Amino acid sequence: MEKVYDVVIIGAGISGLAAAHFAQKFAPACDVVLLEESGRAGGAIQSFHKNGFVAEWGPHGFLDNAVESREILEDTGLYAEAQQAPLGDFHRYVCHRGRLVQIPQKPGKILFTPLLPFWGKLRVLGDLWIKPETKDQTLGQWAGRRFGQSVLPLVDAAVTGSFSGDFNRLSIDAVMPGLRALEREHGSVIRALLKKMKEKKITSAGKLPAMNNFAQGLERLIEVLGQGKNIIFDAGVTSVGRGQDCWRLETRQGRFAARSIVLALPVNSGLRLLSPLKTPPLAEIPVSRICNVVLGYDGAAKVPHGFGYLAPECEKRFTLGALFSSHMFPNRAPQGQVLLEALVGGRRHPERLELSDEEIISSVCRDIRQLIDLPERPLFSQVLRPASAIPQLEMEHLKMLDYRAALEQENKGLYICGFGWDGVGINDMVKSARKAAEAISAGGRGAEAVAPVKPVYF
Ligand SMILES: Cc1cc2nc3c(=O)[nH]c(=O)nc-3n(C[C@H](O)[C@H](O)[C@H](O)COP(=O)(O)OP(=O)(O)OC[C@H]3O[C@@H](n4cnc5c(N)ncnc54)[C@H](O)[C@@H]3O)c2cc1C
Repeated sequence: MEKVYDVVIIGAGISGLAAAHFAQKFAPACDVVLLEESGRAGGAIQSFHKNGFVAEWGPHGFLDNAVESREILEDTGLYAEAQQAPLGDFHRYVCHRGRLVQIPQKPGKILFTPLLPFWGKLRVLGDLWIKPETKDQTLGQWAGRRFGQSVLPLVDAAVTGSFSGDFNRLSIDAVMPGLRALEREHGSVIRALLKKMKEKKITSAGKLPAMNNFAQGLERLIEVLGQGKNIIFDAGVTSVGRGQDCWRLETRQGRFAARSIVLALPVNSGLRLLSPLKTPPLAEIPVSRICNVVLGYDGAAKVPHGFGYLAPECEKRFTLGALFSSHMFPNRAPQGQVLLEALVGGRRHPERLELSDEEIISSVCRDIRQLIDLPERPLFSQVLRPASAIPQLEMEHLKMLDYRAALEQENKGLYICGFGWDGVGINDMVKSARKAAEAISAGGRGAEAVAPVKPVYF
């Protein structure tokens, strides 16, 4: 007799593992299997250990401001292990006219920041009077219209930090649906945020969240989430199709059948399996690739206290920004040494990834030494070139979301989450995965809730 699983999850990255975690939490008797193309779990999440340095190939942490991710940390006991870097205790910097300038942590400090000219600060208030534009726009068009042109380098830096993307291509409705809903409801973003802040002050201390990682690196999250899960490795799914009363999947390790399937894949990998079911509006969505240059310095390096910096495109720097990793988390570098992780490439500069490792390292060192007082040569350097690319939620993305909604509606037992559908951060992945698991245990998707407002942190 053919075995029919309750749930087959395709992909064992954080999306797939979180979907499995929640599916089993909501229905402990549920028979779940994960099919993973590669020989390891974690997808984009992979830590790097060498010569006493702990760095990351992909994500460098996640904020504990999403209830779903906090739930995972609590369920797994990982909260006790997490290393936390509270945003309130660490400065973040933007490269502005060739030097690093602190980003104001509190709204009141915006008045005094050199990042905006006097007229630019006044112009930000224009948002209170500008009517919301209903049609989708790029993030750059939207921010420029509401807050004035002088905020654009800051918007650019924020988008570089999360998408390594181009704010003149990303869609405001796809990237910030919650903020757009507030804008529509209150007629102004500032008015809506002031109201939210007032409500927050009444209900909580309004504390800034903390960035989370682990002593062994972020891969620890994967290690713990993977424990006790039924994961079949080297089992890339090559096709999915509907059988009489279940889903049928072909893999390199044979066929599988399931009542429900969850595609927990980056959008473009998902589209390759979904296209035969329904033709998508785009064959694939754009992606951004970056490399991470791991740099270790001796104690003579005078790295400012903080998380790191980001450089908007108008600054014409080689490096997109750098994380001051050993400041954020303890034991990332050997005693007395400092670890920086510099990011290169992105949506606007894929050509820089064509350079050799030596060329990238020397260009990055030359660039960062103009901003930070560093020794001429690092003690340690390595270029990490992750295979994962960051999906870009650009102007056609809403059509892709409609496509996904139609597919899920037309195909009972099909659930789609993963990298680049509802966002690109780990918190977005865990949120969508939990929603899929919730829908499976409820026997199908309900009405979509209003999108939450995603906070912007640099
Ligand atoms: C360089 C970089 C830096 C980042 N920095 C941050 C950060 O600092 N903070 C943050 O919150 N987020 C960050 N992100 C985003 C974060 O990594 C992603 O949100 C998250 O890892 C995506 O998880 P996923 O499981 O959806 O996809 P993936 O991690 O891509 O996992 C998908 C899995 O599916 C497998 N797979 C693919 N095709 C098939 C198939 N046909 N059959 C079976 N298996 C298949 C893959 O092998 C992979 O294991 C970063 C991403 C990158 C690339």
